[in-house]
Amino acid sequence: MTSPLSVLEKTFGYDSFRGQQDEIIDHLVGGGDALVLMPTGAGKSLCYQIPALVRSGVGVVISPLIALMQDQVDALEAVGVRAAFLNSTQSQAERARVEQAVVAGELDLLYLAPERLSVASTAALLDRAPLALFAIDEAHCVAQWGHDFRPDYLSLSMLHERWPDVPRIALTATATRATHAEITQRLRLDGARHFVSSFDRPDIQYRIVPKTQPMTQLLELLRTEHPGDAGIVYCLSRASVERTAAELRSHGIPALAYHAGLPAEERVASQARFLREDGIVMVATIAFGMGIDKPDVRFVAHLDLPKSVEGYYQETGRAGRDGLPATAWLAYGLQDVVQQRQLIDRSEGDAAFKRRASAHLDAMLALCETIECRRVQLLGYFGQESTACGNCDTCLTPPESWDGTVAAQKLLST
Ligand code: ADP
Ligand code: MG
Ligand code: ZN
Repeated sequence: MTSPLSVLEKTFGYDSFRGQQDEIIDHLVGGGDALVLMPTGAGKSLCYQIPALVRSGVGVVISPLIALMQDQVDALEAVGVRAAFLNSTQSQAERARVEQAVVAGELDLLYLAPERLSVASTAALLDRAPLALFAIDEAHCVAQWGHDFRPDYLSLSMLHERWPDVPRIALTATATRATHAEITQRLRLDGARHFVSSFDRPDIQYRIVPKTQPMTQLLELLRTEHPGDAGIVYCLSRASVERTAAELRSHGIPALAYHAGLPAEERVASQARFLREDGIVMVATIAFGMGIDKPDVRFVAHLDLPKSVEGYYQETGRAGRDGLPATAWLAYGLQDVVQQRQLIDRSEGDAAFKRRASAHLDAMLALCETIECRRVQLLGYFGQESTACGNCDTCLTPPESWDGTVAAQKLLST
């Protein structure tokens, strides 16, 4: 049997495993179930790709990222791995070709959109093929209170019922205990071993500044610290995405707009440009970014307040995946708080939903208003203890006596 290390070297061209990769891979190769919590960019994919190559049969990867499946398959094929995907973007003929390859045992990895599994013919197809493992990527999509909930993920509990002997690995970069518990329960992963990495991203400098003139502040950041760099600017609304992108372009910055209201072809084209060209600034709603593997994103800027610390952590985590210095910059204004509270009040959700949304917002506010190290606060939210980092705004320039909390209380009580 080929060893995981030789697959890492010969197929992927790397010389050593990172973090817990080797332990996770050994556990899976031995037939165990695993829940893997690792920050973005840490290398979750190899944790299921290598066991799929070492074990016999095809490794089935469930992923919500339909737009990225082609890229993922191309990248695997380029290193000689036999990979394919099944999703709704394919023609009947393409699908039939992939299905034949599965049955003939000609695939190492098969990427599936979650809704494919509810199609009876797909389940029947998997019954006819030897299976190496199931990998459930972006597993936090099963969490109903999370920011990326996908109803189709709920049906993934059937994997265990229908194929009890096939090892499963669920992977996510979302770190809260509540989400772990929900993934474990909904995916029936009670017997799984948990692998939890440090969530610190020392390469990222966290900075949260008072919002005064956001456009001017953003331009200043790009001009002085990130000229020519690739980055992502997050805005709350589609309108402000388009406005901001146009404004940046008028200042000679190659900015693209991305939000769910744009035609699919335009979104695919923008994403491809962002990945392949240098120095593109993507201005986007949170619809953009999950699963994007671009190593040299040098900054993530938030012009509006994220709804939760989880969201903030995921979004900022897209910066500096190459391990080089990167900036996470957020402009925070009291007006945002008022607006977010209104959005929650007016939402369709029931009382429990509103309570949760409010608690998430409060945690985000606590991060904005802390005068302690941002990183300590951020990691503390995920249950990880740390000491002052020396590389965030509050460490670098300790706040003076101005107290945002007092200002916030004044504004909110009027
Ligand atoms: P994640 O899914 O955790 O966000 P990926 O699996 O996309 O991360 O991996 C991020 C990058 O790190 C990829 O470009 C991958 O090839 C690289 N990588 C992963 N493991 C290793 C390793 N052991 N040595 C070198 N590079 C690695
Ligand atoms: Mg990934
Ligand atoms: Zn700090």
